[in-house]
Amino acid sequence: MRVRILLQVAADDGGGIPEEVACFNKPTEQAEDLGLSIAEAKVLLAAVQERMVKAQATAWIERHRCCPFCGTQRRNKGSFPIVFRTLYGDVALRSPRLHRCPCQAGSGPAKSSLLAELIPEHIAPERLYLETRWSSLAPYAAAARLLADVLPVASGANADTLREHTLEAAERLEEELGEERPSFIKGCPADWQELPNPEGRIVVGLDGGYVRDWKDRKSNFEVIVGQSRPEDRDARYIALVHGHDPKPKRRLFETLKSQGLQANQDVTFLTDGGEEIRSLTERITPASEHVPDWFHIAMRLTVLEQYARGAAHLDKAAGTRLLDSLESIKWLLWHGNHFRAAQEIELFEDEVDGLDVEYSHLGKFVRTAHDFANYIAANAASLINYGERFRAGERISSCLAESAVNAVIGKRFAKRQQMQWTKRGAHLLLQIRTRVLDGTLRFEFERWYPGLANDNTGAIQATAA
Ligand SMILES: [Zn+2]
Repeated sequence: MRVRILLQVAADDGGGIPEEVACFNKPTEQAEDLGLSIAEAKVLLAAVQERMVKAQATAWIERHRCCPFCGTQRRNKGSFPIVFRTLYGDVALRSPRLHRCPCQAGSGPAKSSLLAELIPEHIAPERLYLETRWSSLAPYAAAARLLADVLPVASGANADTLREHTLEAAERLEEELGEERPSFIKGCPADWQELPNPEGRIVVGLDGGYVRDWKDRKSNFEVIVGQSRPEDRDARYIALVHGHDPKPKRRLFETLKSQGLQANQDVTFLTDGGEEIRSLTERITPASEHVPDWFHIAMRLTVLEQYARGAAHLDKAAGTRLLDSLESIKWLLWHGNHFRAAQEIELFEDEVDGLDVEYSHLGKFVRTAHDFANYIAANAASLINYGERFRAGERISSCLAESAVNAVIGKRFAKRQQMQWTKRGAHLLLQIRTRVLDGTLRFEFERWYPGLANDNTGAIQATAA
């Protein structure tokens, strides 16, 4: 069977002669004969794309040849070659080189390339979008290979170009982010009460993760990752490289704002209780609370319990007292009895300090016990009645943040795969990856390139039917 594919490009005033763009000889013997092969699809897409882009560029040039100020036809002196890179191939175009109109004497360059106004970046926005999206999901080189696997991308589909385009998109987002402030609380409590009822509590889990440092391959740097979950809206991710990001509070604030945050809305920040992350959550919004999540408290208690068991092998009586004490600390903290928990922790510390056994981990045990006491003391004002919240069906553990760390850092930044990162490279890629994971990257591109929203799907369905 011979399949000829014709293309008719009709201008707004009709017309346009159908033209053959591809012709395939198709046997029908086996499954692989049916329909278009990858190679045929690439040929077809590239052929259609070339004709479409050329026809559109020609029409655009015709409409813009005259001076936009006085309407006189501008003098043409030769043309510039331009290569427009699209997802469906490179299209070679010629851009008229126009003289400046006499009415604009003295302003701007004497000659200019007309098509540079239409395609200043020489690349199709949708190609930038897909390159950026895929680069956030797979290593740059792999993303480039995936593109080339299925699309007739003729040039530029390599790791360096994808990295460059991805980081440029991220930088554009960074430039749009407003200034950092020590506080994002504005107005006064009386105004907040005037606001309509908010939608419900927003719970934000924040936690730290690590990626390998490119400069010093033996060390890691810290990435703060979080997920913000409103009751009635989609969750969003946030991620930043700690110490590198100059606007962490603004970033957190804008994420919440995009989810409809209002000043009278309850927000719970669940964190690991560390000082860095806790300070990030301060003065973001008035009706907020910071809560060290139960997961991290329980994890610290489990570590102490293991040491206590080790000690119990050598001194059964002391070991049993320590384990009983830990049990009671856990119970008191869970039920929000912080005063008695603090007393019990003090007794526990004394008991550990007084241990007289040949326990090889004794030094570490003592340090961990004091660390725990300091941790609880530092977070004393933020501790809640976890049991009560738990029974009320509210979040008390940042499994939320744990899974966010895994999702956002995950395989893309994996330490195991020996990937190394500069702080800048990791921070920028995180801005793209968080948006890909929560499904908001496309909206940013449609904001930059509003025409992307016009994808003719309705018309395609109508033709197909
Ligand atoms: Zn003019």
